[in-house]
Amino acid sequence: MMFDQLSAALTEVAQNFGGKQRMTENAIAPALKSVRRALLDADVNLDVATALIDGVKRRSLGNEVIKGVTAEQMFVKAMYDELLDMMGGEVTPDSSTQINLYSPVSTLAYNSSSSTNKPTVILLAGLQGAGKTTAAGKLALYLQEREVDPDAVSLMSETEQKSTLASKLPKRKRKVLLVAADVYRPAAIEQLQILGKQVNVEVFTLGSDVDPAIIATEAVEYAKTNGYDTVLVDTAGRQVVDEELMEELRRVKKAVEPEETLLVVDAMTGQAAAFLTASFDNAVGITGAILTKADGDSRGGAAVSIRGVSGKPIKFVGVGEKTEDLEPFYPDRMASRILGMGDVVSLVEKAAMDVSEEQARKMQDKMVKAEFDFDDFMMQSRMVSKMGSMAGVAKMLPGMGNMLNNSQIKEVEGRIKRSEALICSMNKKERANPELLLTDRTARSRLERITKGSGLKFEDGLAFMSEFQKMRTMISRMAKQAGM
Ligand code: GDP
Repeated sequence: MMFDQLSAALTEVAQNFGGKQRMTENAIAPALKSVRRALLDADVNLDVATALIDGVKRRSLGNEVIKGVTAEQMFVKAMYDELLDMMGGEVTPDSSTQINLYSPVSTLAYNSSSSTNKPTVILLAGLQGAGKTTAAGKLALYLQEREVDPDAVSLMSETEQKSTLASKLPKRKRKVLLVAADVYRPAAIEQLQILGKQVNVEVFTLGSDVDPAIIATEAVEYAKTNGYDTVLVDTAGRQVVDEELMEELRRVKKAVEPEETLLVVDAMTGQAAAFLTASFDNAVGITGAILTKADGDSRGGAAVSIRGVSGKPIKFVGVGEKTEDLEPFYPDRMASRILGMGDVVSLVEKAAMDVSEEQARKMQDKMVKAEFDFDDFMMQSRMVSKMGSMAGVAKMLPGMGNMLNNSQIKEVEGRIKRSEALICSMNKKERANPELLLTDRTARSRLERITKGSGLKFEDGLAFMSEFQKMRTMISRMAKQAGM
């Protein structure tokens, strides 16, 4: 993935940080130097890297190491905060890092009594090969599928929230019209039509002999009369930036006054993507970027540098060739990913998915009393597998990403599978009373029956029992220490 190299280097810096009591200039100088090198190696822009380092220094210096945290953790936190600021800060409901979908203008499209039903217009620009046409298809699908989730509601204007709730719409999907305004590249129109079919979105075209500004204008008119609330215009790309391309974009922009003008840039081009964003912004004015091919092995320079160099936020990332492979860009999640501290946010979200408060309370009780049984074990391990593979989970935990190598992860996964097989061949009574398999005089014969039933060796059964017992003692001790 994009940040492997950078996050490995940053993790190493953190690990070699040592147990410092106070953050002094001398104490953090070597770490800062390594971070700087890691950033430049990842093709982060020089000015951006310098600003990041200065910021980390400013945040760290003179700070007493807080009780309960290590100096290393404080340093990592400072890096996280700096990366976050650099890429756009926390995403707030009205944040500029989200697409401007629920502008007052587009709200009116929902109000049938209004005469000004101008749809939301989004222009896509970019160099040839950046993935612009693909992004148009992806974005069309993304906007169509968007339901009224808390994220979307918080992005709506107050009026729109009210009208959505009032009309009790269970879902809110955008009605999208794709517009083929790339009249130069051979087959660009057909490509868009194929994509349109795939995502079930109508494609507006006037062929390749009409001026793009006229195509876009007619498309907006067509959208108005046909009930489309969102118009996505795929404009022409060129091999290199040229004045003609910019002039055409300016004309299209003037003609349709888009809510969003998004530049599609290729992550593989590193910090060049940041300069490109800046020059498009200077020439035509853009509202943000879509970073494509983030699934490739680019080093991350583009993601870190774009906003720092151009002042424009990344709004979406393309993470594959399929039309579903588009994600909104969340600076906080990206910062965690870069640091290799993992996506703690999504870990917590996923973990919270299943465990109700009631269940959690019962579990705590059991932990303290060392009554943790095989059913609980199963529930916990199912929860873990729901969160994804062990490898994924381990990566998400702060500091764990680099501690487990692949073969260790495989081993843990194998062990969990074996224990599930064993628990499945226990009867209900045995699952709820681990004593029957640990201390009871029938324990051995029971275990023999169970291991046979699960297709495993007796030694596997013994190993699991000993592990389970250890874990139970440990959990109970930890629970008591935590004062639960
Ligand atoms: P355009 O010239 O800018 O319109 O570029 P296209 O949309 O035709 O894309 C160029 C190539 O990049 C195609 O082969 C796409 O499949 C590929 N592509 C686009 N976006 C992504 C992405 O996010 N990840 C990957 N791996 N490939 C992508």
